[in-house]
Amino acid sequence: MIHAKAYAATSATAPLGPYTFQRREPKSDDVVIEIAFSGICHSDIHTVRGEWGDVQYPCVPGHEIVGRVIRVGKKVKKFKVGDLAGVGCFVDSCGKCASCKGHEEQYCQTHTAFTYGSTEMDGKTPTQGGYSSHITVKEKFVLKIKKGQPLERIAPLLCAGITTYSPLKRFGAGKGRKVGVVGLGGLGHMAVKLAKAMGAEVTVFSTSPTKEADARRLGAKNFVVTSDPQSLKAWVGRLDLIVDTVSANHDLSPYLGALKTGGVLALVGAAPEPNQVQAFSLISGRKILAGSLIGGMKETQQMLDFCAKKKVFADIELIPASEINAAYERTVRGQVKYRFVIDAKTF
Ligand code: NAP
Ligand code: ZN
Ligand code: ZN
Repeated sequence: MIHAKAYAATSATAPLGPYTFQRREPKSDDVVIEIAFSGICHSDIHTVRGEWGDVQYPCVPGHEIVGRVIRVGKKVKKFKVGDLAGVGCFVDSCGKCASCKGHEEQYCQTHTAFTYGSTEMDGKTPTQGGYSSHITVKEKFVLKIKKGQPLERIAPLLCAGITTYSPLKRFGAGKGRKVGVVGLGGLGHMAVKLAKAMGAEVTVFSTSPTKEADARRLGAKNFVVTSDPQSLKAWVGRLDLIVDTVSANHDLSPYLGALKTGGVLALVGAAPEPNQVQAFSLISGRKILAGSLIGGMKETQQMLDFCAKKKVFADIELIPASEINAAYERTVRGQVKYRFVIDAKTF
């Protein structure tokens, strides 16, 4: 077994603390990764605090993982020892259903083994995530990362990057398109960078007036402070696509109103409480309310290659493991700039 040092939550209310456990020895199609950096996603917080339902403790969160391959199984072809590698939000799926065959393993109809807070395909072995020194993963679920890039700024691409890239691609964020981004946090700041890199004109909707200069530096042309209802009125019928990354419950109607006829409001933020939608806010203008969950392995690799080519990386604050709990508090307060990344040497 491989000894892993980690940080884990032991209950929904306890702070995360040091924890050690064993990773499996590599099977023939596994690689073992020595983790270098691990991003902090708001989903980690929702999960460990039980906001999305019960979870098994201890829970080691983290699904924005980058590191170096230190061992490979006998049949591994894609990786050799020393290669850089990334792991995102899931580590296995059935491989046989229509979703898996269509390269959308995150929508596996049998079982997606999420990186943490889930189980392996046996339905019982708990999965543990990236706030740890090592991880053993099937090579099929490991991403290739090119050398010569700032590795700590690539970690957040594995969730925040792909989660925003996927709906931007699917619903169209190229040249001539007007794209809104709601919430300037981890996902939101990646959405701005990616939409801009795809050629769209970007408008940020934020509750934080202090983020305006950053929004513009990240690539936004317009910045709208949503706490002032007047400012939203000026946006009626103007956007082709809005990606909503807000982590808490909020009124969707101003954003549906900001869409052109046939426009799409794509929810990626996953507030724990249900939302209310007025039928007329969709009917009037044939609006589409959509959702999107991360992205499949193939699309995630495409996103990483796109980011390498366009030099799109996350804006991060690098922290030692001992600061995870403080980072959670700042993230919940909307004060993240714009992703916390843990230095895995400090576990
Ligand atoms: P984050 O860094 O905390 O950013 C969320 C942003 O939303 C905040 O910075 C804030 O931006 C805004 N916000 C927070 N509370 C708000 C409120 N009460 N009303 C209005 N705006 C508020 O979180 P994240 O890591 O980007 O994740 C965002 C959400 O996406 C979470 O719910 C997470 O679980 C979910 N998620 C979904 C997927 C998926 O596959 N669909 C993947 C990853 C994460 P401003 O200060 O600009 O207002
Ligand atoms: Zn995430
Ligand atoms: Zn499947």
